Amino acid sequence: MPWPASADLLAPLAPWFDGVRRDLPWRAQDLNAPHADPYAVLVSELMLQQTQVATVVPYFLRWMDRFPTPKALAVADEDSVHKAWEGLGYYRRARFLKAAATVVAARGWPADLAGLAELPGLGPYTAAAVGALAFQWPTPALDGNAFRVLARLLLIEGDPRERAVDLRAWLPSALRAHGPSRLTQALMELGATTCQATPACGRCPLADRCEAHRQERTREIPPVAKRAPQHTAVLWLLALEAEGRYLLHPPAARGLLAGLWRWPTLDANTLDATTGPTSALRAWPGWTQVYTHRREAVSPLHLQWDRSFPAPEGLLWVTCAELGALPLGKRDQRLRDLLATPGEHPLTAPDPAALLEVLGFTDSQTGG
Ligand code: SF4
Repeated sequence: MPWPASADLLAPLAPWFDGVRRDLPWRAQDLNAPHADPYAVLVSELMLQQTQVATVVPYFLRWMDRFPTPKALAVADEDSVHKAWEGLGYYRRARFLKAAATVVAARGWPADLAGLAELPGLGPYTAAAVGALAFQWPTPALDGNAFRVLARLLLIEGDPRERAVDLRAWLPSALRAHGPSRLTQALMELGATTCQATPACGRCPLADRCEAHRQERTREIPPVAKRAPQHTAVLWLLALEAEGRYLLHPPAARGLLAGLWRWPTLDANTLDATTGPTSALRAWPGWTQVYTHRREAVSPLHLQWDRSFPAPEGLLWVTCAELGALPLGKRDQRLRDLLATPGEHPLTAPDPAALLEVLGFTDSQTGG
């Protein structure tokens, strides 16, 4: 059965959104005009990928204070960019944002969706969202929320992402009729607040026209994708301190934690020495760190030595003062915060000498 015209089907969304919209620092007051600051839209869209609105707000405000224009971000050094992003996770977004700002500072904003999609880090969704929210282009932004709402509304069987081409052709007439920025945000808001995994159809402005609701099939549409079980790595996270300095890995150019300083880690399975703690050791209860494709069961340890030793290959000594200013990922920040908490934490943990032996540090390197 052909889908009903999008402009008619989605008509109740726009007035509903005008009634429920929250004031967010990146939102334009006038949803009928192009946004006064497209850069603010770009920053917010990249921050909102994978991160909740409430978390993003203070980061966004600090970021715009620190890097108020594409040019300011383009000329900023990478460490300060990572530092400003610290705690938001998925640091690739910060690097993409800087790279996109560099292009915009040099050439100005692209004139169409294809140009936006060529900016570093902007996939089809983000490019379309920036097109609609910043420039009022009728570019359909389909993220997980939009796919879920539209799958239920139109009773799309199977994975709605497989109908992305059809949905992108179907949506523009509604975007033109009700305003690209307003309707795009309305769809996002409905998915985020009402048509969630368990939908609240009783307070949905589209309930009288939603096929999945009418047929009582909202539980099965869209089908939930099965995730492969994730491997969990078991690690010691090590703060090795000597003479007021700590050993850290400098940032790698690529990979999950690119651009970030890291504590050394040790696979806990390679260590079987479990003698009691010493006065030179602090240990804290561990936690599970979850990444997109990886989980780590992390046990933090603090080892203190009387004298520093030559930094092993790939590691650098940094002072306590420098440590506070370096960009670290969430896992590593957590150990930095623990180090700042006073008091002994003598939990059962491996013998420090055994740990260093496994790390490959000899007695002469550690000063005895
Ligand atoms: S009626 Fe229910 S299932 Fe349909 S769009 Fe609204 S909240 Fe989602």
